[in-house]
Amino acid sequence: MQTEEVFIGLGSNLGDSATIIEQALSALDNVNQCSLHARSSLYRSAALGDSPQDDYINAVARVDTSLEPMALLLELQAIEQAYYRQRDPQRRWASRTLDLDIILFGNRIMADSHLTIPHPELARRRFVLEPMFEIDGDRFIPGQGSLSYLIEHAPELAMQKLV
Ligand code: ATP
Ligand code: MG
Ligand code: MG
Repeated sequence: MQTEEVFIGLGSNLGDSATIIEQALSALDNVNQCSLHARSSLYRSAALGDSPQDDYINAVARVDTSLEPMALLLELQAIEQAYYRQRDPQRRWASRTLDLDIILFGNRIMADSHLTIPHPELARRRFVLEPMFEIDGDRFIPGQGSLSYLIEHAPELAMQKLV
């Protein structure tokens, strides 16, 4: 079966974030037609936005899947729900127990009302770029350039790799 190399960004800043991220990585590997190919270390990063929030724990996973993008997004949302994520449409970037975003889906470029791929904020998010670089330093982002180019030009962010 044809599979695509997909990068998924994981983030949490509510609850026992490190444990939640580790469990979410296992959950990804257990999704039908998905296998976890690689994962980054955990990273701690300062929350973006104007209202103060706890630091995030972030990681990036590479999953190989034969699912189509929308089917994968529904699987990711089901995993988020399993961690009781509250989605408040008025506060998109509020604290959350678990956020799973599709960063790259092979070399596909798409944008509809549910899904934009590559993730539209990728180039501005060091907390995604750096963990991605750790697992695939040679990756090229369709329409944007090499990962190392994007890292060179990304805004600074207080973050640290955790052991
Ligand atoms: P951001 O996308 O800026 O990281 P967020 O992850 O906090 O914000 P969510 O509340 O998780 O936002 O998702 C809002 C909507 O974003 C989802 O309902 C989904 O349809 C849409 N979306 C668009 N592109 C993507 C993508 N590449 N990965 C995940 N969700 C996406
Ligand atoms: Mg997100
Ligand atoms: Mg999200």
